[in-house]
Amino acid sequence: LRSRPFLGQVKKQSHLLHMETWAMASVGDLGVRRGFVDSVGNTPLIRLNAASKATGCEIYGKAEFLNPGGSVKDRAALYIVKDAEEKGLLKPGGLIVEGTAGNTGIGLALVGNAKGYKTVIVIPQTQSQEKKDMLRLAGATLVEVPAVPYKNPNNYVKYSGRLAEALAQTHPGGAIWGNQFDNIANRQAHYETTGPEIWKQTEGKVDGFICAIGTGGTLAGVGKYLKEQNPNVRIGMADPMGAAMYNYYSSGVLQSSGTSISEGIGQGRVTANLESWGVPARDGGAVDFWCQVTDEEALPLIFDLLKQEGFCMGGSTAINIGGAIKLAKELGPGHTIVTILCDLGTRYQSKVFNVDFLKSKGLPYPEWLDPAFKDVS
Ligand code: PMP
Repeated sequence: LRSRPFLGQVKKQSHLLHMETWAMASVGDLGVRRGFVDSVGNTPLIRLNAASKATGCEIYGKAEFLNPGGSVKDRAALYIVKDAEEKGLLKPGGLIVEGTAGNTGIGLALVGNAKGYKTVIVIPQTQSQEKKDMLRLAGATLVEVPAVPYKNPNNYVKYSGRLAEALAQTHPGGAIWGNQFDNIANRQAHYETTGPEIWKQTEGKVDGFICAIGTGGTLAGVGKYLKEQNPNVRIGMADPMGAAMYNYYSSGVLQSSGTSISEGIGQGRVTANLESWGVPARDGGAVDFWCQVTDEEALPLIFDLLKQEGFCMGGSTAINIGGAIKLAKELGPGHTIVTILCDLGTRYQSKVFNVDFLKSKGLPYPEWLDPAFKDVS
């Protein structure tokens, strides 16, 4: 996408000169970042070759796993902290309290380390051990709670809100609640950074954008920005099984069925991040396309992506790529579609890439994933 003007000329010259000139071009692209905060965002756009070939479209993944905390949520974490600072709610010595499936917590803990705040994270017990280990490593105080639905007062989100309120009274430096689901500083991060980056990287030639909903911050922020640049950009939503948004977009009913092993996505209500963008979207609203992607459809996409293209991605990225393929089929060949590569698969090695776990869920896995498998070919 980004033109490298002198590569064409260099090809005609010696191999050595080619290498030197390529290195110069690459070095020119490397930004020097002044610390953690400055390192969030400006991620590359990576062409997904198999998905593109299968659909006749150009399908790109925004490499959010390259953020310094390792996920798309670093952007939201940074904006939530900056917003609280600007409003005078977060002061030196203050605590950041949040309910999270893990990635937002990792982002908040690391931003907190860089800026001098401590972090208290409430996480459902069901989330991967790898994310919990990273949170502890980052210095967050972890409160593990049973995974119960949102309507239960002990749901991790509500629990974290109450904990923040209590700590605000007792902690000498005060405490803030990140409230990522209903704090639109989250959406604003994607409206001000992810969206404009995608627009610039595709030189405005993007035809469609699609991703799943966790808080809805990514979808609403990127969707709003892209629609403002070009109202014809198709914005898609890919829902894992067990989430209610597909039914909500198609019929207005918040209803779900089935389950998914993906983490960080799968919403059962219209969050403020979505609502503030103009959802409900059914009647000519903000989202134009919605689909469900099952784990059976999605997982083979990331197994192949690892084995054939070298990228090891997590479960939500599988749903996103499955959605991008469905949107590509809807639009037809020749279109440019962007989705999100949310985080690395190593964050879920004990689940998404674990044969025993997959077997226990009745999910498909490639033979090479079995530790007993020996590739002698
Ligand atoms: N993928 C992963 C791995 C996540 O942690 C999250 C955030 N919970 C998402 C996708 C969804 O992003 P958003 O909250 O912006 O909808």
